[in-house]
Amino acid sequence: MAEILSIYCPHCHRHTALTPAPVEYEHAYQKYTTRAFWQKSSGTTWWIGVCNACDEPVLVLNKGNKVYPAPLPKPTEKDIPELIRTDLNEAKICFSAGAYRASAVMARRAMQVASLEKGATGDKLVSQIAQLQQNGKITTDLKEWADAVRWVGNDAAHPNGVQVTKDDAEDVLHLAEQFLHVLYVAPALAAGIKKRLGKT
Ligand SMILES: [Zn+2]
Repeated sequence: MAEILSIYCPHCHRHTALTPAPVEYEHAYQKYTTRAFWQKSSGTTWWIGVCNACDEPVLVLNKGNKVYPAPLPKPTEKDIPELIRTDLNEAKICFSAGAYRASAVMARRAMQVASLEKGATGDKLVSQIAQLQQNGKITTDLKEWADAVRWVGNDAAHPNGVQVTKDDAEDVLHLAEQFLHVLYVAPALAAGIKKRLGKT
């Protein structure tokens, strides 16, 4: 059995490790400490792990095949407008539940709402992103990366049976978050520094 398991902690949202919980029991008026492993006859094992960072417990199957509570992704930066942040958070929740197509659709939607909010026009995400690049709001690299996930717009949201893999959904989610950071978080950081330094 795994002594220590690396995990994205559902409580403190950090990449950290779990150590099996020390559990006290009493036998013949003596107190002992053991570890909470429950080995079932089927060969599977459930155990209680304790996060090394925040000291909170999680219930784990084998080497992390299942973890309760399910690890959720990091919350989205507050500088991203609420409507867009809500979409991205929903994409993350879908991803952690294994709903990859729904995750990709919501991440794409967050990018599209942001593009419109930044003044892009038309109804195709790819051309909206191209406009943002032409206006200097995003870099060429970010635009090319966005082009690479063009299939999301064409496939994930339409009933044509195309599967979205975990890797695909992760790429789209990562792209959407980077995109929103460039549009909202980096400018807010720069504005904050300017203000602190008293620059105009
Ligand atoms: Zn933790």
